[in-house]
Amino acid sequence: MTPEKIDCLIIGSGPAGYTAAIYASRAGLNPVLYQGSQPGGQLTITTEVDNYPGYPDGISGPEMMINFEKQARRFGTDIRYGMATEVDFTGYPHKVIIDGKKEIEANAVIISTGASAKWLGIDGEERLNGRGVSACAVCDGFFFRGQDVVVVGAGDTAAEEASYLAKLCRKVYLLVRRDEMRASKIMQKRLETLPNIEILWNTETVRLNGEEELESVLVRNNKTGEESVLTATGFFVAIGHKPNTDIFKGYLHMDETGYIQTIKGSSCTNIKGVFACGDAQDNVYRQAVTAAGTGCMAALDAERFLVEREVEVAMEETA
Ligand SMILES: Cc1cc2nc3c(=O)[nH]c(=O)nc-3n(C[C@H](O)[C@H](O)[C@H](O)COP(=O)(O)OP(=O)(O)OC[C@H]3O[C@@H](n4cnc5c(N)ncnc54)[C@H](O)[C@@H]3O)c2cc1C
Repeated sequence: MTPEKIDCLIIGSGPAGYTAAIYASRAGLNPVLYQGSQPGGQLTITTEVDNYPGYPDGISGPEMMINFEKQARRFGTDIRYGMATEVDFTGYPHKVIIDGKKEIEANAVIISTGASAKWLGIDGEERLNGRGVSACAVCDGFFFRGQDVVVVGAGDTAAEEASYLAKLCRKVYLLVRRDEMRASKIMQKRLETLPNIEILWNTETVRLNGEEELESVLVRNNKTGEESVLTATGFFVAIGHKPNTDIFKGYLHMDETGYIQTIKGSSCTNIKGVFACGDAQDNVYRQAVTAAGTGCMAALDAERFLVEREVEVAMEETA
């Protein structure tokens, strides 16, 4: 197959990818963006986004992402359906295979493939997602002010989510499957100081109850087998995220979970001309606005890289 040669390829269509597309298009890089299996990214599965600046009354996640897409199209981004299924970053230009068949050769590649929250897979979880069920306390905690909520998990993320919610909510039940937590000692000490957090050890979720919205959570003590019902309007799953970065393994430096490591203060990876932004490289903030911010960085870094490369090539030709 004859490869399609382009200047700038953007992989992913969440806030990071579309922001990179807006900046790259306006800089004249003629970017091609592949949307992947979830056009619009993670926000398309949420109801209300209340914390993205510029929307004083909030906006639905899908609507916001349609706006992102429209803005990228307005400046001429070539937006396409398709998944990047394979890459080869050993030579230059960078090779990316789309849907296992189409080959692209790109002078700069911006990775904005995001991450996926891990879910429990229990009864009621999917049905009540966005109606009490969430994977992000910073995003949704505000909707549960003064109410009782449940957090599931035993690591640092769960401890952080529980202590964040404790400031807003009346009561926070933290369900821990074993009789100890994996969270750091300091985070566990912090939990002990918060009087409205109750840790339920050896406890697993059986089912989420509620028709239109979450009303209660059926839990089971896995030591005694005893079941009980917690009345709660919020259920926060905090068992981790998985970055969508498998196809880049072996080429890019990553942490043990698969988050791409970028050079501090930039979106540059260990491979020249490959940039990473958004949740694919961020296991700390994981917000739409930070994803958009790093998307902007990636486009500006890519633009600088391409300009410098042009100068280098011109100098080589005249030498
Ligand atoms: C239920 C929920 C509610 C949330 N609410 C809020 C909120 O209120 N406020 C807030 O700030 N944040 C919220 N977040 C977090 C926010 O959605 C993320 O931080 C943000 O979407 C990350 O943007 P991103 O562009 O990095 O990646 P994502 O939004 O994850 O998008 C990744 C994109 O990459 C594509 N992709 C993946 N692999 C490939 C591939 N191989 N080839 C091509 N494309 C690929 C996907 O199709 C997708 O388009 C929420 C998250 C969830 C799950």
